[in-house]
Formats: sequence, structure tokens, C-alpha cells
Amino acid sequence: MRSLDLDAMYAPKFSEYANIGVADPEAGEFRIGMEYGSRKSVIAAIRSYTIFRGVNYVVYESESQTFYAKCNSYGRGCNWLIQASLIQKKACWEIWRYNGSHTCFMG
Ligand SMILES: [Zn+2]
Repeated sequence: MRSLDLDAMYAPKFSEYANIGVADPEAGEFRIGMEYGSRKSVIAAIRSYTIFRGVNYVVYESESQTFYAKCNSYGRGCNWLIQASLIQKKACWEIWRYNGSHTCFMG
């Protein structure tokens, strides 16, 4: 049992690394309605996107069931924002709001 639990813990981390270095940048793009198995995996996906695209962002966590990230230059020439929420019916995290790919170079 204990070793199975460890496998479950390491699996998301492994896929996070697997996503880095994807040849087509569009493959890492988010879409509204995309689903993730855990809060951790959404955050990992956002983190690898922002590293890949060079976004400096701030994460806002108002509640345990939702969070969003904004570009540092949000409201100052950039509107990059992503919000994810826990969908309790489906027991998964879903991309709820997303303003499209990041294009500013100020963040
Ligand atoms: Zn920006």
C-alpha cells in the first residue's frame, strides 16, 4: 500500500517534466474547460507554461477551491490571466477563465 501511495505522489511530477520541451509551443496552450486531476497538477501546468513563455506572474489564492494567476503587468498593457476552479461534481480542476496566449514582453 505504502509504495503505491508513493507512486501516486511521484506520477504528477514526472508528467510535469515530460511536458517540458514540447516541440510545438501551441501544445502547451491552455483552453477553457481543460481538466486536471489535482490542484497540484494545474499549478504545475501553469508553472511550466510561464517558464516556457517567460511570464512573470502572481498567483492569487482567495479560496481553497479556486485560484488564479495574472501577469505582473496585468492592467498595464497586458491582460494575461488564468483561473482554475475545483469542479466538485467531476472531482477535477478545470480551467475556468483564460485570456489567451501570453504576448507581452513587460511581465
Ligand atoms: Zn504579460
